[in-house]
Amino acid sequence: MASLRVCENGHDYYKSSDCPVCPICEQQRKPAKGFLSLLAAPARRALENEGITTLEHLSEFTKMEILALHGMGKSSLPKLETALISKGLCFKA
Ligand SMILES: [Zn+2]
Repeated sequence: MASLRVCENGHDYYKSSDCPVCPICEQQRKPAKGFLSLLAAPARRALENEGITTLEHLSEFTKMEILALHGMGKSSLPKLETALISKGLCFKA
């Protein structure tokens, strides 16, 4: 039996499992910030400092521009590239 729960943001949702995650909050969080959660904190901050919080925005930069950001490491680039490709996007050539 699903039971009615209310999350900390006030969403009503039904859940039958013990998982306390609110599906509405999850959906709101994912499109904008989903790919940022793949990154280490310094790389994430590097993008946020530039105001880059969506893949669409990220695709307006070249690989070299992103790599030049303070805090961005080489290991983050493949993750970003994979995230871009999954949305049908790519870095600027
Ligand atoms: Zn919620």
